[in-house]
Amino acid sequence: MARYTGAVCKLCRRETVKLFLKGDRCYSDKCPIEKGASLPGKNAKKTRIRKLSTYGVRLREKQKLRKYYGLLEKQFKNLFEKAEKKKGVTGENFLELLERRLDNIVYRFGITKSRAHARQLVLHSHILVNGKKVNIPSYQVDINDVIEIKEKSGNIENIKEIKEGKIEVSFPSWLEFDSEKLKGKIIKFPSKEELNLPVEEKLVVEYYSR
Ligand code: SF4
Repeated sequence: MARYTGAVCKLCRRETVKLFLKGDRCYSDKCPIEKGASLPGKNAKKTRIRKLSTYGVRLREKQKLRKYYGLLEKQFKNLFEKAEKKKGVTGENFLELLERRLDNIVYRFGITKSRAHARQLVLHSHILVNGKKVNIPSYQVDINDVIEIKEKSGNIENIKEIKEGKIEVSFPSWLEFDSEKLKGKIIKFPSKEELNLPVEEKLVVEYYSR
């Protein structure tokens, strides 16, 4: 599966916002954004002072959201097209589909430090959905689907400590997670306010609707 392999902090610097792609470092004063890092690249100064066009603003919001969830353009656009076909408000549908990805739910349980790490757990077949192995990061989780870490995988670094109560996990109120059993589910789909994303999703809809 194709994925971005460059320096992840550069992605945040490009968008001048914290996208939380690197686990603990994102919450420390080592984060380049906290230190006031500039845009990456030789022409950073010029790029910063140039006023963005409407297209540019929408493009940057789209890139921000895509990088936040760690998707490549094709996967991201496919999901957007699914959101468009669903009843309701496209932007909200889109956020819901992004959040329902299996790799995202594993990350939201608080058992991995980044979505990239959660994706690895899924790809390496450590996750069961309703008792069956699912190794597809884009798998759409439904309300009350039971997501669990395979028993044999309970020895993986961090997961073992979580199970033993040595590391406390935190997760949003729209999820339920039992750290002893390493098992959890979605109780309800989150509202836009509950997600508190660093992105204006309406601008992403406008970008794709141009
Ligand atoms: Fe790097 Fe995380 Fe800071 Fe982004 S939020 S710049 S990934 S440390």
